[in-house]
Amino acid sequence: MEKFYCPECDRSYSLNTTRWRCDCGSPLDLEFTPEFFTEKILKRGPSLWRYREAIPIRKDQSILSMGEGLTPLEEMEFDGHRVLIKIDYLFPTGSYKDRGATVLISKARELGVTKVVEDSSGNAGSAIAAYCARAGIGCDIYVPESTSSGKLVQIQTYRANLKKIEGSREETARVTMEAAKKTYYASHCWNPYFLHGTKTFAFEIWEQMGWKSPDTLLLPAGHGTLLLGAYIGFRELKEAGRVKKIPRLVGIQSAACAPLFQGFAKGLDEAPAILKGETMAEGIAIAEPVRGKQILRAIRETGGEVLTVTEKEIGAAFKEMGRRGHFIEPTSAATIAGLKKYLKRKRVKEVIVSSLTGTGLKAVEKVCHMEKVCHLTATQ
Ligand SMILES: *Cc1c(COP(=O)(O)O)cnc(C)c1O
Ligand SMILES: [Zn+2]
Repeated sequence: MEKFYCPECDRSYSLNTTRWRCDCGSPLDLEFTPEFFTEKILKRGPSLWRYREAIPIRKDQSILSMGEGLTPLEEMEFDGHRVLIKIDYLFPTGSYKDRGATVLISKARELGVTKVVEDSSGNAGSAIAAYCARAGIGCDIYVPESTSSGKLVQIQTYRANLKKIEGSREETARVTMEAAKKTYYASHCWNPYFLHGTKTFAFEIWEQMGWKSPDTLLLPAGHGTLLLGAYIGFRELKEAGRVKKIPRLVGIQSAACAPLFQGFAKGLDEAPAILKGETMAEGIAIAEPVRGKQILRAIRETGGEVLTVTEKEIGAAFKEMGRRGHFIEPTSAATIAGLKKYLKRKRVKEVIVSSLTGTGLKAVEKVCHMEKVCHLTATQ
């Protein structure tokens, strides 16, 4: 049976529905031993639940699934380099956050939870709200008032209680933590079950690459839920003797909000306090990453790094992806901008995997704003 444990002070706690952080203040991880049976995986349907024995849900009846996952791994060429891209905007709610939500809300159901709270810049809130709707679990979703209207409408369509907070993403988090004193905190940042859903990103790549790991994963980094999930997934595969190495982790941040970049560049253990500027990449505009220490540790352990991109580079990458038939969120365009930077010094034969994390349909007004700044659709 799994347990919570704290990677900072080594305390452990039995599972319960009220604890969402360690007594020392750190976010908790999960002690859990996954298993991998390739024949069973190959026989199951095309969803992330095909890695059933590696997902910490006890009873099959607890599982809430909309057939999410096993997204395409598309080969693309950028500036003469071949790169593999996971098309992770192809999820029921339009972003990869469904990986975490399907597992976390299945667990909430297994634990008998009837109501949850969550705070997000929009996509995690949409994903949690959708799976709560399926489960018949009540949910309050807290978002900063600047959130894209597509995400707000989506959250309300799933009949969640939308709580718009006047103030920043950070202020929104503080209000939600108060609410979490009384209600189950289905937080994509704090709740380790979310990461045990996002880790399926690693399992899918492993399978789609012929049961191997790539050399490098290039991923957006805000709270690091995809980056840490990928790390956990490949670490579990390595510990199970299924892959030889954990890929190098390269995190991409917007130059306007880059606490992880600062922490990495300055050799710090934690992401330092920063002044946050405006960015179109709202999904990674996180000034205070909850698992900042863990992210920096994982990046250093794998020999990775953190890169930043400017608003202009984000606009150019958005435009380029449109020409390739991909309408993505500006946040995902930031990843591609970072990829293009990274490729300038790519090693020979280095196998790189990246991801398109969210659909452009959610952030239409941000795209229109970019249009003014970057003349996206102008003929040239
Ligand atoms: C949440 C999100 C990210 C970044 O995820 P973090 O967990 O904050 O690192 C990237 N892209 C999109 C579209 C997102 O919704
Ligand atoms: Zn602790």
